[in-house]
Amino acid sequence: MVSRDSGDLDLLNPARATDPADRTGFTSTGHLPARGTVSGLLRDAHATYATLDDGTVADYIPSLAAADPSRFGISVCGVDGTSFSIGDAQEAFSIQSISKAFTFALVCEAIGHTTVREAVGVNNTGLPFDSVMALELNGGSPRNPMVNAGALVMITLAPGDSAAAKWQFLQEGMSRFAGHRLLLDVDVYESEAATNHRNRALAALLRSYGHMSYDPLLTTDIYTRQCSLLVSAMDLAVMGATLADGGVNPLTHERVVHPSVCRDTLAVMATSGLYQRSGDWLYEVGLPGKSGVSGGIVTVAPGKGGMATYSPRLDPAGNSIRGQHAIRSLSRSLGLNVFASAPEPAPAPGTQTP
Ligand code: GLU
Repeated sequence: MVSRDSGDLDLLNPARATDPADRTGFTSTGHLPARGTVSGLLRDAHATYATLDDGTVADYIPSLAAADPSRFGISVCGVDGTSFSIGDAQEAFSIQSISKAFTFALVCEAIGHTTVREAVGVNNTGLPFDSVMALELNGGSPRNPMVNAGALVMITLAPGDSAAAKWQFLQEGMSRFAGHRLLLDVDVYESEAATNHRNRALAALLRSYGHMSYDPLLTTDIYTRQCSLLVSAMDLAVMGATLADGGVNPLTHERVVHPSVCRDTLAVMATSGLYQRSGDWLYEVGLPGKSGVSGGIVTVAPGKGGMATYSPRLDPAGNSIRGQHAIRSLSRSLGLNVFASAPEPAPAPGTQTP
């Protein structure tokens, strides 16, 4: 068992030092199984689910329709920096909604646990990621940062007085999570910018409810850019491992966010990371995750590492089908479900417990 107490890190950010929710210690337990075991299980999961041809590639953003549905990659990165990959794990694709988890972390780091909760909320909407009805049913509150409306509000809260400064903050922060500079896929950006009428409508509606403190069109543009950043499954596994490692990138050893921010980010991923199928995911996998409509899923085993998959065939909610199967299988075979416990051995007869 590894136990790490980092209570004094609260002093790094004055916004957090006054927040009682951030004064607790942080404990990580366990580790990934041995190298050979992980790579063998990765190979098995890839071979088992590569033949699944259910689901369809997203096409509501025209350039996403060009994705090759046969692609399938899996990557795992431990908090000690060891990594394991199989298949198309280096194939680059646009991060899409997975960016929401990392924007949340970066903004939460900047403005604190309580402020983001009050501004956006942390409950699942139970409705699709681009739902207008969810906003109307909740008095204009986005409810959580993993849906488009919540992600748009998070961007308004990002540090920076101009759109360029906010974008720089987000692009640089996400690059620190990945351990190298993440670049924009210009085709995807232009394709989505030309067709994202619904997101512009969500931003305008948020403005009408008084929940959008920055220009709605500029905010939507920054959101479209963040969704168009190029990543691979290997990048996402490192980004997930950074959240698993109390906010320190296990490859660069750079502190990206505070441990309390990882805790908060993983909580919203657990409740809302797989759209309206988040409950099914948590029940089957028992780990926080976030998916995106280009076919990626990032999953975090706190204290142990990050796992990521890429396969563009999606279920009706927008989650990669092969990815969900592969991660469910790996969570079980690697023993990562955070809700699973084994009973404490009974005391030997005649011994007394203190
Ligand atoms: N950029 C996409 C949109 O706003 C992201 C959707 C997603 O991956 O959930 O529609």
